[in-house]
Amino acid sequence: MPAMTAPGVLVHGGAGDLPGARIPAHVAGCERAARAGREVLRAGGTAVDAVQRAVEVLEDDPRFNAGTGACLSRAGTLELDAAIMDGATLATGGVCALPPFRHPIAIARAVMHSGRHVLYAGEGARAFAQRQGFAPADPPSMITAAARTRLSEVQAGRAESGWPGGTVGAVAWDGVHLAAATSTGGMVDKEPGRVGDSPLVGAGTFADDECGAASATGLGEAIIRVSLTRLACEFLRAGRSPQAAVEAAIEVLARRVDGRAGIIFMAPDGTPAWTRNTKTMTYAYAALDGREFSGA
Ligand code: ASP
Repeated sequence: MPAMTAPGVLVHGGAGDLPGARIPAHVAGCERAARAGREVLRAGGTAVDAVQRAVEVLEDDPRFNAGTGACLSRAGTLELDAAIMDGATLATGGVCALPPFRHPIAIARAVMHSGRHVLYAGEGARAFAQRQGFAPADPPSMITAAARTRLSEVQAGRAESGWPGGTVGAVAWDGVHLAAATSTGGMVDKEPGRVGDSPLVGAGTFADDECGAASATGLGEAIIRVSLTRLACEFLRAGRSPQAAVEAAIEVLARRVDGRAGIIFMAPDGTPAWTRNTKTMTYAYAALDGREFSGA
């Protein structure tokens, strides 16, 4: 039977507890990103091209915890994590603890294409990016007043440290292949050098044409322990529906490590699914047949 789904892109703008007043703008940002990814598919781009574009749109949006507007480490610096994965070949690339560059996901893609290594960290990631022709950003151009305020509130004990929400991710199906991408600043007030789940294959980001594509968001230390995105894909491979697969993965996260997170997922036939056990996770879907949905 032919697939009932059309090629499409599903994005998230982070799991957490987003105040109600901020939800509409975050959902609108996700909608813009999903539509930008869909335009790439419409123009003949691949699933990898589409997830990269969708994530770049969110990295440029200062409301999200990725690229411009990402949260700050204890030292007041931006240390960015991102990864991308091609479900056709299992090719993948990532950067972690990357100093400021406008589009960490584009550098992750360059890592994937370079083929030699799959993950670069810190200074080595910066050097790799510059060798590939990416220009480092002036830190003040990417650090927002909101990120500075959030860090000083946490450091003054007026707000809880931890993950701020707003990590971004995308999954896409181009009619043949799947891809996934995730980008984040991590956690507010994190120790310099801390790396979360987002750039780690099978934890925050995973894609395999045989069993699905997924991007996670939430407390990275918990997501890593259960390999959340890979877990969802393996539940699908074992026969669960896309929705049942993501729900089973989040159930394991909660039961085994008391974790809280959200996940977006796309099955090998392009069926989208998502779930969360946090209060909110903004998301948006846009398909080539015109189907769209979004929410928090
Ligand atoms: N998962 C991210 C991290 O722990 C944070 C988030 O999703 O907001 O780095």
